[in-house]
Amino acid sequence: MKYIVITGGVMSGLGKGITAASVGQILKNKGYDVTAIKIDPYINIDAGTMNPFQHGEVYILKDGAEVDLDLGHYERFLDTELTSEHNITTGKIYRSVIEKERRGDYLGSTVQIIPHVTNEIKERIRDVAAKSEADICLIEIGGTVGDIESMPFLEAVRQMHGEESEENLVFIHVTLVPLSLLGEQKTKPTQHSVKAFRELGLSPDIIVGRCKEPLSQETKSKISLFCDVPVEAVISAHDAEDIYLVPLLLEEEGLGDFLMKKLHLTPLESRMEWRQMVERMSSLQRKVRVAIVGKYTHLEDAYLSIKEALKHAGIDLSCAIDITWIEAEDLEVGGTQCLDGVDGILVPGGFGVRGTEGKICAIKYARENDVPFLGLCFGMQLAVIEFARNVVGWKDANSSELGETKHPVIDLLPEQLGVEDMGGTMRLGNYEASLKKGSLAHKTYGTTKIVERHRHRYEVNPRYIEQIEAKGMIFSGRNKDRMEIAEIPSHRFFFASQFHPEFTSRPERPSPPFRAFVKAMLG
Ligand code: GLN
Repeated sequence: MKYIVITGGVMSGLGKGITAASVGQILKNKGYDVTAIKIDPYINIDAGTMNPFQHGEVYILKDGAEVDLDLGHYERFLDTELTSEHNITTGKIYRSVIEKERRGDYLGSTVQIIPHVTNEIKERIRDVAAKSEADICLIEIGGTVGDIESMPFLEAVRQMHGEESEENLVFIHVTLVPLSLLGEQKTKPTQHSVKAFRELGLSPDIIVGRCKEPLSQETKSKISLFCDVPVEAVISAHDAEDIYLVPLLLEEEGLGDFLMKKLHLTPLESRMEWRQMVERMSSLQRKVRVAIVGKYTHLEDAYLSIKEALKHAGIDLSCAIDITWIEAEDLEVGGTQCLDGVDGILVPGGFGVRGTEGKICAIKYARENDVPFLGLCFGMQLAVIEFARNVVGWKDANSSELGETKHPVIDLLPEQLGVEDMGGTMRLGNYEASLKKGSLAHKTYGTTKIVERHRHRYEVNPRYIEQIEAKGMIFSGRNKDRMEIAEIPSHRFFFASQFHPEFTSRPERPSPPFRAFVKAMLG
């Protein structure tokens, strides 16, 4: 197994995840099987309990793991499916070390960070890598070199470096090259962060410099000299118009060739699909305007996979996607004028009462004005509530998540009764749905059996289904008594799912509901 460790310096938010995913993409194009692990040094067991405002969206894997959004980048760039073990957190490591200690597995020794915690980290990395049967395993260490939380992880990869042969473990350090007030490229932050890296006994093989503009030859030489890497190992990662261009840009910078040399590998093939996809992306013929009505719209990363899934559909249909972000609470105050002229409305997933009435207004607007609508998870639940209130006539219809009501058209999943532990206890991950023949759902997927990823605690209350269907909203996707898809056949395009199709969309294979939604917007 070959390992590529990606660390970050200077500050977070440099796009280390995209760099890691791009490195994987480059190696995949050369014919190698690549897998990826994200290490998040926080104490949380997983990202499930985290507010999207802090870390962006919670990404869901097929096995139901609630993980960091970088795993989404890996899945999209590598066109792969990962599992819970691919996201290692301090919480998971310590939990398992403490459990082992209680079981007496350490035979009376004093349990310490070195070797017990570092061994646990190394074992997990090697296990996941071996299980994946890949040729190369990327290991991205979250945070910045120098953070207290990441120390045990950096120590673990330092030890691995000694244990693996030279050509089997490569370090890529991603840093920032800021511009001075006079517009010069400054290398001092990079020098400092490499110094911090060296103090831990690590040395970078490759330095990726994030900069607004391409790194000049002079900057590269300076970094090479001060940080002791060959000049060809200093890679410019300047701003790209779109993240899907980054693998091409890094490849042009010579990263792929240098990695091949370092890892003692030769390219097995030269796949062109990604390049072709990027070329299609740069010559889109048409454009649609979609409104996303949510409650974390000030941080677009909170809806990252949705944005990407729309883009994938757009690439396939040669159509640029212009997103108007609408804060649901603003809509409660300002009314639906902000929706006038949009080609489609999307209401994403969410939790809690804030902004729900605004989202319901947006759904009502879409339904009444025959504007294409896509509702995801909470978006579907709210669509059912809107329909129950304004078409069926139960004025107080609501979700029991949101308040007391005589008509809980959305209610707690029976198995959720009495659940108090909030970590990993929702209905999570892959579940099947059977689609009704001839329905929009059936036409959209082109099949009657689908599997999609889930993350919810509430569902459509089966008690109300007959009455809702009698009024024209049908549940065309079901998993036994569980409603998976709601649609309104008399509407131009009204499709809402209890699951999250955005997580399985890929640049070269858009998610069917997203594709159908964009197609409907095109008219
Ligand atoms: N809050 C809703 C539930 O728990 C929807 C969740 C979501 O949108 N992911 O069922």
